[in-house]
Amino acid sequence: MNCADVLVIGGGIAGMSAAAALAGHARVLVLEAEQAVGYHSSGRSATYYHFGIGNRAVRAMTAFSREFFEQPPVDFADQPFCRPTPALFVARPSMVEALAALEAEMQLFTDTIERIDEKGMLAMVPVLKTGGDDIVKGVVDYGGRRLDADRLLQAYARRVKHGKGDTVIGARVAGIDYKAGLWQVTTERGQQFAAPVLINAAGAWADHVAGLAGVRSLGLEPKRRTVIMFDPPKGIDASEWPFVKATVDDFYMIPESGRILASPVDEVDSPPTDAQPEEYDLALAAWKVEEYTTMTVPRIQHRWAGLRSFVSDRVPTAGFAPDADGFFWLAGQGGYGLQTAPAMAAIVSALVTGGSWPEGLAAFGLTPDQVLPDRLVGREVSV
Ligand SMILES: Cc1cc2nc3c(=O)[nH]c(=O)nc-3n(C[C@H](O)[C@H](O)[C@H](O)COP(=O)(O)OP(=O)(O)OC[C@H]3O[C@@H](n4cnc5c(N)ncnc54)[C@H](O)[C@@H]3O)c2cc1C
Repeated sequence: MNCADVLVIGGGIAGMSAAAALAGHARVLVLEAEQAVGYHSSGRSATYYHFGIGNRAVRAMTAFSREFFEQPPVDFADQPFCRPTPALFVARPSMVEALAALEAEMQLFTDTIERIDEKGMLAMVPVLKTGGDDIVKGVVDYGGRRLDADRLLQAYARRVKHGKGDTVIGARVAGIDYKAGLWQVTTERGQQFAAPVLINAAGAWADHVAGLAGVRSLGLEPKRRTVIMFDPPKGIDASEWPFVKATVDDFYMIPESGRILASPVDEVDSPPTDAQPEEYDLALAAWKVEEYTTMTVPRIQHRWAGLRSFVSDRVPTAGFAPDADGFFWLAGQGGYGLQTAPAMAAIVSALVTGGSWPEGLAAFGLTPDQVLPDRLVGREVSV
């Protein structure tokens, strides 16, 4: 039996950032089912940071996280984890009201928002379809950032290793018992681990892991999202284009390694699984490109899908389960698990070590009751 102070199930961005935050205080073991960290959602994202997604709680976490990405602690990384890449939110006539509401929400958290007219939008992205029933209004967030998710994940893994922790890959947790104040975990291969605190950061599988432990589920809903990559039209350099997103959730695109990454912003219910793109969603992605731009997609060069998992109020959840001692939820990061990871890690650190709620999060209006699992499962049951 390998004993630790904290076991973390799941080596995605949630589990690795939490483990890194705790590794200085405690012996932390991360148990990851796959042969590498970041194999599932964390390795399939668009790696973008912006205020045009989520609700107010998510924006507060996003705002808090910016400093970490831009100026990571010197003992953690010697370069920022992001580079400036503006976000352009576009609206057709039917979306103009929604764009105004989005602009007002974003302005609560950043002073980097500006309106832009059709000419300005075309100067940024010459292929946009504008005027008439097409795009007529736009708002730019100059605070948008492209994140270096791989480097971030590796930096968290290094911090775990250099602290008192370790990451065990190929360790799919198959059984969980609670005995004498310890969570005792058995993997499919029969390895055994134990600790008084168990952090459930299993992404789309978090409710399944809770089930193994006899803990009440959060009602997590994994939803599949599809991404395509294609070449820009001949002679067009897209490398300096912003992230372009429709105000209603049906399209985004961003330049990526000389190509264009686009998504129909699909949210298809899925069981927790190794998500793969479906033909319908690939066709939808290509069609949306043609709806919002003058480009066509003659050939999809690369495609993938991943799961974004939400609880009912779409606020990422962190905190001890009200119905099981030492069982800590870290789940429901939805479509913003990368851009909110530093905030979530700070919350984990405070709640697990008994520290005080991060002042920076309070300053952005985020309070514990908004993220604790109690809001979803109630307090009355105890194991
Ligand atoms: C197409 C797409 C685009 C996205 N774009 C962005 C973006 O631009 N910006 C942003 O911030 N977010 C984005 N996201 C969301 C982001 O990727 C997720 O919120 C985040 O990766 C969730 O991290 P996680 O660690 O909770 O989950 P995961 O990365 O899925 O990690 C969970 C881990 O738990 C492991 N696990 C599960 N069960 C067990 C078990 N029994 N034993 C051991 N290990 C187990 C899994 O193998 C997995 O590695 C996007 C997501 C998708 C799919």
